[in-house]
Amino acid sequence: MNNCPGPTAPQKEITAYLNKIYEQGDLEPVMNELHLWSLDSEYINKDKLEKNSIREFYDLDYDLYFSYQINYARAGYQQKNKPALPEGAECLICRENASSPGKENLRIFDLKLKGVEEETDFFLQLTPFPLFPRHLVLINREHTPMNMGAESIAQSLSFIGMAPHYTLCSNSDLEWAGASILSHSHFQLLHKRRLPVMNASPLFEFDSEKGLKVEALRFPLPVIRLSSEKRTDLVREGSRIIDLWKKTAPGMRTVNMLIYREENNFICTLVLRDSQFRTPEDLQKYKSEGIGVVEAAGSWIFPPPSGYPEEELTQNSREIIKGFFKGIRVFDPLDIKGYDFLPYKRKENV
Ligand SMILES: [Zn+2]
Repeated sequence: MNNCPGPTAPQKEITAYLNKIYEQGDLEPVMNELHLWSLDSEYINKDKLEKNSIREFYDLDYDLYFSYQINYARAGYQQKNKPALPEGAECLICRENASSPGKENLRIFDLKLKGVEEETDFFLQLTPFPLFPRHLVLINREHTPMNMGAESIAQSLSFIGMAPHYTLCSNSDLEWAGASILSHSHFQLLHKRRLPVMNASPLFEFDSEKGLKVEALRFPLPVIRLSSEKRTDLVREGSRIIDLWKKTAPGMRTVNMLIYREENNFICTLVLRDSQFRTPEDLQKYKSEGIGVVEAAGSWIFPPPSGYPEEELTQNSREIIKGFFKGIRVFDPLDIKGYDFLPYKRKENV
């Protein structure tokens, strides 16, 4: 790429540069350039990317590897004083934060996503504390609340249609049920990363229409996976499942969602969440904040150990993580009755 703006280039220059790349038709090179610029400008740095090491363990019950990391990079930051929100911003991810005091090196890229009917303005930015390399956030241009349903599925699929090497992960729209920033609609983006739930095998399949596959997964939390070549299938059936699930206990239930591509298929994975099922008290010393989508997908993030030795976590990670899963699961995924709310019959002999 020529004419790459220097590390102090203002937003205007970045926008012009990235738009030129986007005009050639692909979104992923734009995201790559934004990532490289963010490294040049030290918005993110080598230390942040390399400090958190990911560890894995195998669990025979699910025939899956689960992973965890201790988030050292973020810990240092939280101790510092946070600057006040810039003028016009209503929260930490509002667009006004870009280039503001304390976030001088934050640059964004504006794009439109197609919803069920209309296009909506979004923007992309790097997260300041990446859990993985090329960890971006896709944020609604308006300060509008999270809402899991047809529109968020359609917008997510619109994005993945343009960036097939990314996995889109969505926190939820309900506190203590896999939420992060509730007041402002946004999605997490991970580059070429398969989270454990994406490798989970089906427990059984439901009878659905031709071209659409609906499966319950062998996983510590109840998860429904929909796959189809047709995005409209996922919008229609995914939102139907979310609405039905929410109705089983209004105000308490919602989902965490992953949207990604596998060859010609679009995949929509829904993790069923309930705000009444939280971290058990004896595990809160390891992690007291809510459990978000990345953890629900099997990749855990812990703050640096305080008040207990790190070995306690690393030597017992399997039992500790199993305990978290058990605490937040709304029903035992092996109990097929839990899926009775679905509008499909179970397929025989799968
Ligand atoms: Zn906001």
